[in-house]
Amino acid sequence: MNQNSLLLNEFSSIISSFKDYLSYQKELGIEGLQLSRGTSKMFDNYQETKKITLEDIRSDLGDCRRCKLHKTRRNIVFGEGNSRAKLVFVGEGPGRDEDLQGTPFVGKAGQLLARIIESIHLTREEVYIANIIKCRPPENRNPDPDEIAACQPFLASQLEAIRPKIICALGNFASQSLLRTGESISHLRGRFHNFHGIKLMPTYHPAFLLRNPDNKREVWQDMQMIQKEYQKF
Ligand code: URA
Repeated sequence: MNQNSLLLNEFSSIISSFKDYLSYQKELGIEGLQLSRGTSKMFDNYQETKKITLEDIRSDLGDCRRCKLHKTRRNIVFGEGNSRAKLVFVGEGPGRDEDLQGTPFVGKAGQLLARIIESIHLTREEVYIANIIKCRPPENRNPDPDEIAACQPFLASQLEAIRPKIICALGNFASQSLLRTGESISHLRGRFHNFHGIKLMPTYHPAFLLRNPDNKREVWQDMQMIQKEYQKF
């Protein structure tokens, strides 16, 4: 590919990301562009004001009853880790163990996630771990669109508060929800995507790896790319 085609490709990809950004803003009910407020102000729907903290967001979430999942959950699983993490992992939603303990990724998949994090010489405490939804769906069914919509502003605000350099989306569901695409994880993984100015690497979910250990090699490759990027900051 020559230089002009490369530039054209890059330009089309910027325009396409910008179009996604605008339609996302529209979905959030934001009219017009806020050009004076920096590059990744997609989360302004949550609060229009000064920098919010994770504590503010947790307290706003309260004993959340914004969707039907509150009826069956035991605990809200808000998220855990370093409030200034450069790397944030986002999973799907709490399973049984997480629902019981109120902490993300504490079951078998969580143990594997801890090993994945250690493979790039980090600890759980150094990163932040959250999920697309904060309450366990009954029988671990897929979250419904209204449940995702109710939870979305809180994860968005958490990301805005932490302002990580890198997000690692775990599995199909998290990757597709964050990137707003129907593309499968096998196509999405292996490269960084632009998530409102943050580098986002989709990779296989640890629960999937427990069932498909042959795919560990790909996760290893994705983590190596994350580690390389991480070292820049
Ligand atoms: N799977 C997820 O996606 N998130 C958790 O917190 C636990 C298991």
